[in-house]
Amino acid sequence: MKIAIYPGTFDPITNGHLNIIKRASKNFDLIIVAIMENIKKKPTFTTIERKEMIEACIKDFQNVKAVVGSGLTVDFAKKNNAGVIIRGIRAVADYEYELQQATTNMLLNDEIETVFYVARPEYSFLSSSVAKEVAYNGGDITKFIPEEIISRVKAKLK
Ligand code: ADP
Repeated sequence: MKIAIYPGTFDPITNGHLNIIKRASKNFDLIIVAIMENIKKKPTFTTIERKEMIEACIKDFQNVKAVVGSGLTVDFAKKNNAGVIIRGIRAVADYEYELQQATTNMLLNDEIETVFYVARPEYSFLSSSVAKEVAYNGGDITKFIPEEIISRVKAKLK
C-alpha cells in the first residue's frame, strides 16, 4: 500500500490545498493530511478547528484522512508507514523554502521522498493568509475557500 502524508498548517485549508489532495489521492492508496506545527506561524484557527474543516472538505474522498501530527515530519511519516511527503509549489518564492525542507528531511531519513505537486495556475497566488485577509475585509472568498467551510471562516474573521 502506497501511503503519503501531506503536512501543512492548513490555517485554514484552501482550494489550492484541496486541489493538491485531489490530485495526490489518484497517485497514492492513502493520503494522510497532517496538521503540523510550524514554529514560524501563529495560527488563527485551533488544531481541532483546522482538522474539522479539512474533514468537512475531504468527506467525499475514500482514501484521504486528516490527523494532527507532532514532532519531526519524517518521524511522523515513518510512524504512519508513509514513504512519501507531499508538498505543493506555487511560485519561485516557495521553491527555496521547500527545497531546504526537503533536503533537511532527506538528511534526517533517506528512505522518505518528498514529492512536489505544482499548483494549478488558478491557485498559484492563493494562500491561507490571502484568503483570511479577504475574509477579514468582508470580500468574497468563494474562489479561495472550499464552500463546506466558508461560513466557519467568515464567522471567525468577522
Ligand atoms: P506550511 O506552514 O507547512 O507551509 P501550508 O498550509 O501553508 O503549510 O502549506 C502546506 C503545503 O501546501 C505547502 O507545501 C504549500 O506550498 C502548499 N500550498 C499552499 N497553498 C497552495 C496552493 N494554493 N496551491 C498549491 N500548493 C499550495
